Amino acid sequence: MSDLPARRLLLVHAHPDDETINNGATMATYAASGAHVTLVTCTLGEEGEVIPPELAHLAADRDDALGPYRLGELAAATKALGVTDHRFLGGAGRYRDSGMMGAPQNDRPDSFWQAELDEAAGYLVEVIREVRPQVLITYDPQGGYGHPDHIQTHRVAMRAADLAADPAFRTDLGAAHTIAKIYWNRVPLSVIEEGFARLRALGEDGPFPKIATPEDLPGVVADAEITAVVDGTAHGAAKAAAMRAHATQIAVEGPFFALSNDLGQPLLSTEYYQLVRGAADAPREDDLFAGVKL
Ligand SMILES: [Zn+2]
Repeated sequence: MSDLPARRLLLVHAHPDDETINNGATMATYAASGAHVTLVTCTLGEEGEVIPPELAHLAADRDDALGPYRLGELAAATKALGVTDHRFLGGAGRYRDSGMMGAPQNDRPDSFWQAELDEAAGYLVEVIREVRPQVLITYDPQGGYGHPDHIQTHRVAMRAADLAADPAFRTDLGAAHTIAKIYWNRVPLSVIEEGFARLRALGEDGPFPKIATPEDLPGVVADAEITAVVDGTAHGAAKAAAMRAHATQIAVEGPFFALSNDLGQPLLSTEYYQLVRGAADAPREDDLFAGVKL
């Protein structure tokens, strides 16, 4: 599409809230700088646990109404981040949240875990060939922390990047497009340890009953594996607002937050990446588009 901005960033995520937790500051930073930011979310997060007691009835084992509710939360979050191009893979509700690994929901025929890979990737190829992003952000092969929908999101995103570049694949979906750079979400161990130390220093005044460990969080790696850092400090308030928009899933307390497991962790407005495809412009890039010919 020739009327889109020159720099185009695509993010592919499993559930509403993942985009904000992982990339909220990055999305807000690039949107504010005039880049086109496209978010593709693969499920509605129907199987998520609900934090506010007054909304507990939405859960899958009660009203099973969490998906449509989270659609509204995601719309509020993307608005806070300044992101206007948001889609669901194959359309809202095409794939259902698979639940945690080993849960019976993994076997539902409509679950994302059961999706046929090339069919799901085909939906993303259509987006890639329309938007023609230079940069793609998604998860590592473990999906960061082993959730089936995050693993599947990784597979679909990487497969779609390959298929979109193949001129022989689905010519009905538009001209082939090669994404110049692909990044996986990462968190450097030293940064998260420093955040935990800030939480521990609060002692009994801390906002959450317990503090997470690096093993509880997705994508934590040795600092040396980080190849790109996006300083989104100027958009930290937008990220915090977007996190608060996901109220069924996230409890925000100042510079900290917790998911339904009640484990406190730092809210980071600087976000970290590992380049896995394409050429790095520097040992530690500070711009995901660095070196990309526009
Ligand atoms: Zn998720």
